[in-house]
Amino acid sequence: MTSSKNFSFIIAAAGKGSRMGAQKQFMKLSGRELWRWSAENAATLSNSGIREIILVIPENESLVPEWHSDIPLKVVNGGSERALSVLNGLNAAMCDYVMVHDAARPFATPELFKRLIDVASEDVGVVPVLPVSDALKRIEGDEVSCVERDGLYITQTPQVFPRKKLIEAVRNFPSAKDEAEAWFKLHLKLKRVEGERLNFKATVKEDIMIARALTETKITRTGLGWDIHRLVPERKLILGGVEIESPLGLLGHSDADVLTHAVMDSILGGAGLPDIGNIFPASDERFRGADSIELLKEVMRLVEAEGWEVEFVDAVLTAQIPRLNKYRDEIIKSMAEFFPFNIKFKSAEELDDSGKGLCMTCRAIATLGKVIESACV
Ligand code: MG
Repeated sequence: MTSSKNFSFIIAAAGKGSRMGAQKQFMKLSGRELWRWSAENAATLSNSGIREIILVIPENESLVPEWHSDIPLKVVNGGSERALSVLNGLNAAMCDYVMVHDAARPFATPELFKRLIDVASEDVGVVPVLPVSDALKRIEGDEVSCVERDGLYITQTPQVFPRKKLIEAVRNFPSAKDEAEAWFKLHLKLKRVEGERLNFKATVKEDIMIARALTETKITRTGLGWDIHRLVPERKLILGGVEIESPLGLLGHSDADVLTHAVMDSILGGAGLPDIGNIFPASDERFRGADSIELLKEVMRLVEAEGWEVEFVDAVLTAQIPRLNKYRDEIIKSMAEFFPFNIKFKSAEELDDSGKGLCMTCRAIATLGKVIESACV
């Protein structure tokens, strides 16, 4: 049944995000800006009377968001204070009722919006509330006293009001903490509906971490890398970008950093990409004498461009000479510029070619993670 009441859904997204050091309302959660989560939920409720969505963005900014819905989205600029921003939204609104919502509450559900719509009526404001669940204290200077929490509730958004009366309330009480407070100060009646635990306000970075944990699904892959280079006189020995004191060095087209080569192949393997021989062919003169750390930077760019994060790389380097353990910390530090890293050194018990001091081999295994989809909240 189509509702006889009509609602403008106003999203306050004009905050400066001073507590988070960024405009969080435009941060993305699983590929969608925070404000868009509630805007898209509101847009499903045309049958319940929501006729338009009004996004209030910071003053002096412009935004033309992509929007695919029969319910129109208007973008208006806010002011220097929350009350001025909400007023701009209220003045742009066309409907008899308004629902004023914080952009930073992405998980408010259509069910909550419907509960509010059902209770909305003339001369009444409706707010979602939840009982306070923590014990409360009041701090005054060094004094700590206990506050009885019975009867205390936290208030969420959206809050629903008849539009014209709310304009009057916000104009008269611009320093109110929320629209309900301005409404209340005008001696108008407030009603409540039950809020939602997940409808929390993303205020500090820990809130965003929780929001990400709720919405992002991560896949993990491992990749294997292996490399071998001959040990010869009159070459530098470079491992993991660190120059090692040694009578012999590794032979190769580049700097022959066998460790970095195996590491790069493990990372490329995890990302499902071909090996470094394909990406930096030995036939290409640009790579003669190349610094393998520079090649590693390029590999990181390639995998990060595909959305992968390198979470950890572990490696085993097999070499009879020289003794490498004293370089372990320096090599780990060099690789830690890129990702958490571990290395072990093995002599090959004088058994195979590396054990006989003819070559060095390295094996590496990389763990990569990628966010692939959003969960339904
Ligand atoms: Mg190599």
